[in-house]
Amino acid sequence: MSGLDPPGADRPDDANRSYDADRPYDADVLVVGLGPTGDVLSALLAQSGLRVIAIDKSGEVYAAPRAAVFDHEVMRTFQAVGIADEILAASRVAGRYEFVTADGEVLIEFDTALETRSGWAENYVLHQPSVERALRARLAPLGVDARAPATLLDLKEGDAGVDCRLSGPQGEYSLRARWVVGCDGAASRVRELLGIGLFDYQFDEPWLVIDAVADEPGDLPQRIMQLCDPKRPITYLKMCANRYRWEFMLLPGESPAEIATDASIRALLGPWKCFERLKIERRAVYRFHGLVARRWRSGRILLAGDAAHQMPPFAGQGMCAGVRDAVNLAWKLGAVVRGEAAPALLDTYQVEREPHVRAVIEIAIAMGRVVCLLDPAAAAARDAQMLARRAAGERDIALAFPDLKGGLLTDLPGAGTLFPQWVTPVARLDDVLGAGAWLIGRDLPDTAPPGVLTVSIEDPVLAPFAGAVEEWLENHAAKAVLVRPDRYVFGAGSAAALAGQWRAMLNETADLPARNLSD
Ligand SMILES: Cc1cc2nc3c(=O)[nH]c(=O)nc-3n(C[C@H](O)[C@H](O)[C@H](O)COP(=O)(O)OP(=O)(O)OC[C@H]3O[C@@H](n4cnc5c(N)ncnc54)[C@H](O)[C@@H]3O)c2cc1C
Repeated sequence: MSGLDPPGADRPDDANRSYDADRPYDADVLVVGLGPTGDVLSALLAQSGLRVIAIDKSGEVYAAPRAAVFDHEVMRTFQAVGIADEILAASRVAGRYEFVTADGEVLIEFDTALETRSGWAENYVLHQPSVERALRARLAPLGVDARAPATLLDLKEGDAGVDCRLSGPQGEYSLRARWVVGCDGAASRVRELLGIGLFDYQFDEPWLVIDAVADEPGDLPQRIMQLCDPKRPITYLKMCANRYRWEFMLLPGESPAEIATDASIRALLGPWKCFERLKIERRAVYRFHGLVARRWRSGRILLAGDAAHQMPPFAGQGMCAGVRDAVNLAWKLGAVVRGEAAPALLDTYQVEREPHVRAVIEIAIAMGRVVCLLDPAAAAARDAQMLARRAAGERDIALAFPDLKGGLLTDLPGAGTLFPQWVTPVARLDDVLGAGAWLIGRDLPDTAPPGVLTVSIEDPVLAPFAGAVEEWLENHAAKAVLVRPDRYVFGAGSAAALAGQWRAMLNETADLPARNLSD
């Protein structure tokens, strides 16, 4: 299926390394890699009271913009970690996204809704380094021990924790964490040490990415588009403020070195009549591909973000998927470290996230297959078919992602859907109710399960949102809803039954209390 599985054993050859079972812990969780996934995971873990060490091999945030777009659910997460205002200052609502023919006819278009279930606009355009700086700045106030530069060299897992060998400015040292999460990107060292292979979607296209600043944009388009021209497919984005991006597909026979020269870029940008006005910040050739790690957990070590999956950027979802991983994993790690659930709970992470991320990758690849057509006859046929379907009111690709299935969910109404965040001119539901799980409704049990906030529909705190919550419950024929800490619905029904099922499902995974393993 894939040529990417490394040969040899599943796990590193650690037979010769000793493991001291009595060594104390330096951290509940070591997060390896401080890109957006590691930043968000570290922040959420620290917010839930865990001791977190987070490392990155680079002393600086990666300076070149990569992600251009992020979605409402990610904005809701930025709100949860307390940086919504900073992120808004470094982004803007995305507007329309179009796929157009060489003649400028629209094949597909996506409009950005201003209201979504998350209480934010559907999509935002960002400057990734600014967003990462805002995230990084949040870590120390939340109590994260963030170390950069610090590079993970090696891992050794024992019954009680993971010993990690790091190198930093003072040389090599080691620490022990109960859990390790590899958020260390596409070339993940953690994944390599675990010997985990990759499923390959066999989509592999080289593109030149150019990021530029234009203080005088002239008549550069102020939108986002895929120019589906078989002579040279091009992605164009008006980013934030005075930033612009072009992505040019490499044609057969073109080399990455040749296409990235000044002369070549001047020629590529010729039709845009802007080269003289641009300050080029970055030129790099990327291979756009779809890859999924075969396992996301090996004992006490997990993978998240690009370390676990990669996708072409056509759907603007790579970073978003990593942030969703972080949100899904953070509360589960918290419950396990606090002894509210056993390590088996962490197996629901891949069960829930992998089908979702695969669906997103498949949408991104479907978009890529529309764009990356170089055969003029095939492109003409594509244009004719897609324009005809569009004229008939049909839509070729929808940016609609699935609900969660399996994992820690009931089969009750609403389970696996994203619970809405209602917003008033002065308040947002998530800010009012705070972090953790919520049991909202009528006839609430006297004792809530650990970590679950019970909120009566009559509670004054809910007053600004009570009508909307009532309507949601009515639509689901339920008296109550249990919302997980990641804001996905566990189920809707009677409050007592929901509380019982939550307890039972956590207890099913709680027969090996994590604290007993390690204290
Ligand atoms: C051209 C392009 C366009 C894109 N557009 C979008 C988009 O519009 N929307 C979107 O959502 N996504 C987009 N993406 C994808 C997005 O940029 C990535 O998915 C995202 O950056 C992944 O985040 P991450 O934190 O998982 O990994 P990374 O951002 O790669 O971070 C990994 C970190 O781990 C560190 N690290 C690595 N090894 C070690 C080690 N041994 N020890 C310590 N630290 C280590 C690295 O220094 C790095 O900081 C795009 C990507 C590209 C290339």
